[in-house]
Amino acid sequence: MSGPAYLDWNATTPLRPEAAAAMAETLAHTGNPSSVHRAGREAKKLLDQARARVAERVRVAPAYVTFTGGGTEANHLALRGLPERRLIVSMIEHDSVLAAEPDAARLPVTPDGVADLDSLDRILTADPRPALVSLMLANNETGAIQPVAEAARIAHRHGALLHCDAVQAFGKITFNYSELGADLMTVSGHKIGGPMGVGALIASPDLPIQALQTGGGQERGRRAGTENLPGIVGFGTAANRAEPDDGRIAALRDRTERRLVAVAPDAHIHGGSVRRLPNTTCISMPGVAAATQVMALDLAGVMVSAGSACSSGKVKRSHVLDAMGVPSALAESAIRISLGWSTTEADIDRLVEAWGALYARTRSRAA
Ligand code: PLP
Repeated sequence: MSGPAYLDWNATTPLRPEAAAAMAETLAHTGNPSSVHRAGREAKKLLDQARARVAERVRVAPAYVTFTGGGTEANHLALRGLPERRLIVSMIEHDSVLAAEPDAARLPVTPDGVADLDSLDRILTADPRPALVSLMLANNETGAIQPVAEAARIAHRHGALLHCDAVQAFGKITFNYSELGADLMTVSGHKIGGPMGVGALIASPDLPIQALQTGGGQERGRRAGTENLPGIVGFGTAANRAEPDDGRIAALRDRTERRLVAVAPDAHIHGGSVRRLPNTTCISMPGVAAATQVMALDLAGVMVSAGSACSSGKVKRSHVLDAMGVPSALAESAIRISLGWSTTEADIDRLVEAWGALYARTRSRAA
């Protein structure tokens, strides 16, 4: 029998061997990028190379890249670093955006989980104060791709700025900063085969972003503190190696969905009719709690998550499915399956077999 099937790539990805090797080499290097001596200059060179690699991925100049301690911090820097602007955030944003400003105006989504741009126009028209709109590029639970370029055009027409959390889209689909028209963009290392705890905020050096932590001039004054050089080097290496899906993962995901619906005919795929990330499925097995499914799959050696897992490891109600108007019974039975570059057909066989067996057990009990 093959090893366990890891199907939770939207939570985190395996560290790419090239990133691990580059990190190990950097750990053995002594030198602070701010020091002027040779060891410092060598460290600075590594930092610059990583910055150039991340910048290259989203087609910006390296000066646009501010390294942070992950996507959560970059989201906070984007939303809190421009304090004079009122915030409008979509209802399906990651918790790190929603929590950055609890009083932000909320942008609704359609039943398929796509931001409602007529509402955005109305919200911006109703209050002419300078605003910052935050709309993610792809949702972490359903994979639904958001109309960021159109939202940016609407925001700019009203004199507002747009922040895009591209954490889940980065490395999975092809996009770039200027085509999207975003003013600020968040990316994270551990969703693309880099290490956890490293991310970046992409923004023009001209934007007056105030640092959340001060005391050192690092990152052009946008983020004080000695840089996490091994992590940043790992992130840069992973960014350099990341290859958006060439169709293999999308085809595997589509086959997976067909097979899951074949074994559980009343299963429901959330956001199934809109453009999604190629690797993500959010699916409900009606009447069976998500936690029950996650545990049954885990016992069978298949790792998935229940909607959005929070840091306590508990399963909480999905605000994304709530925002889509999914009835609570259906929302509570939704799991997220997310694939990646090393997912195999055997992993999917294992998932379908275990999920199908659980379905058969619950239905025969109910009969
Ligand atoms: N934004 C989205 C859409 C995410 O999915 C995540 C992580 O799951 C984050 C932000 C947070 O990123 P990090 O884990 O690097 O803090």
